[in-house]
Amino acid sequence: MKFTNLTRAEEIGANCYLLEAGNSRILLDAGMHPRAAGSQATPDFSVLGGKGFDAMLLTHAHQDHVGCLPVAMRQAPGAPVFMTEATAAIADVMLHNSVNVMMRQREELGLPDYPLFSHREVERLTDEWRMVGLGSRFDLTGQRSSTGAVTCEFFDAGHILGSAGVLIRAEGKSVFYTGDVNFEDQTIMRAAKFPREGIDVLVMETTRGDSPVPEGFTRKAEEARFIAALQAALDEGAPVLVPVFALGKTQELLALLYESRRNGSLRGGFGLYVGGLGAKVTAATDRLRGSAPRRHGDLKLATCLPMEVVGGRDMAQLPVLPRTVYAVSSGMMTENTLSNMLAPRILADPKAHCMFVGYSDPESPAGRVRASAEGDEVVLDARRRPVERRCRVDQFTLSAHSTRAGLLDYAKQLQPKKILLVHGDPPAVSWFARELSRVCPQSEVVVPAPGQPVEL
Ligand SMILES: [Zn+2]
Ligand SMILES: [Zn+2]
Repeated sequence: MKFTNLTRAEEIGANCYLLEAGNSRILLDAGMHPRAAGSQATPDFSVLGGKGFDAMLLTHAHQDHVGCLPVAMRQAPGAPVFMTEATAAIADVMLHNSVNVMMRQREELGLPDYPLFSHREVERLTDEWRMVGLGSRFDLTGQRSSTGAVTCEFFDAGHILGSAGVLIRAEGKSVFYTGDVNFEDQTIMRAAKFPREGIDVLVMETTRGDSPVPEGFTRKAEEARFIAALQAALDEGAPVLVPVFALGKTQELLALLYESRRNGSLRGGFGLYVGGLGAKVTAATDRLRGSAPRRHGDLKLATCLPMEVVGGRDMAQLPVLPRTVYAVSSGMMTENTLSNMLAPRILADPKAHCMFVGYSDPESPAGRVRASAEGDEVVLDARRRPVERRCRVDQFTLSAHSTRAGLLDYAKQLQPKKILLVHGDPPAVSWFARELSRVCPQSEVVVPAPGQPVEL
């Protein structure tokens, strides 16, 4: 068995991995780099050596896992792509949106290769997608099977709607790839339900390896701290920017605002703006309620609170109003997204607040705002002048990713023979490598270098 990393660097970029097992080649995820552009934004498919693959497994529909799916599928025409029903519904929305974004970037960034795929190609390729349920074991043709040369099984990852970790059994061994995971309940998502024994090789994400949480931290207490800060800001009449990912964080935030209104911890009326893609994913989430595990199973998020939907074209005219929450993407304030377009006016306003609720890449505009002090000049977009930050900035840990302690506990319980560390910046990966050698002394810990096969 062999595992090869197709990302171009050791980072959370365009996640994509090749597993060679039982005479088959299986591709795991095919993301697009959230910061890079052009060919540098794709996984390095040259590692496949023109030999394609037999099947693909998709863990969830975030851009860094699904963004290059059509490009990956071109490497192996007709190969089935397995995913959960919710991932398929959301991936469809995300990929069509991505075509629109790339068409804009083609002009703005002068990228003649863009879009990397078309709306028509996305429509055609969805025919090769195979929906599979959680906890059902299937072979690479999609037949239910517990005896095939290679079998696969999805487990609820608790990260976003549809997210799954995947267990591959072949050659008498079991390999478990976590994808992105959360072991704690969020406002909507329930905690992951992962296998607790019998894993030989664990391939795990390391996103938060460099982000310790304070002693006694709980999600519930952090939600309460966020709502109290939001209430105080709204009471002062502040406009509040909450940069969120369209998929996952937008829906979690809507549910949290709804829950807080109901239990009285958030009082009084307030304006609420949600981004266009966030609203589309929210509608898909509402359609899927009941078919994927979550809390607030009956809640329709799109109508649980009065809200306005805004798109990129409205942004220049969008009023920055008192007592109003702007829950717009992206969470990292990436250039040309709604949160980046709104940020100059929020940053320059001493009455405004900017509240971060999840992970940001330190190199992203959100990372720079978070690291800034009041009065600092912040670069939001390299093509424009920096903006003096006069607004208040608060940070909350309402991450959709497991704490590093949670992942360490999981590995400790499993005691696999090998642990492969992926999906993390170098300091995060180093922390896990160090700590795992302490808590899992029997396990061999490997950081798969891009393009270098690891024998399992
Ligand atoms: Zn994710
Ligand atoms: Zn990810």
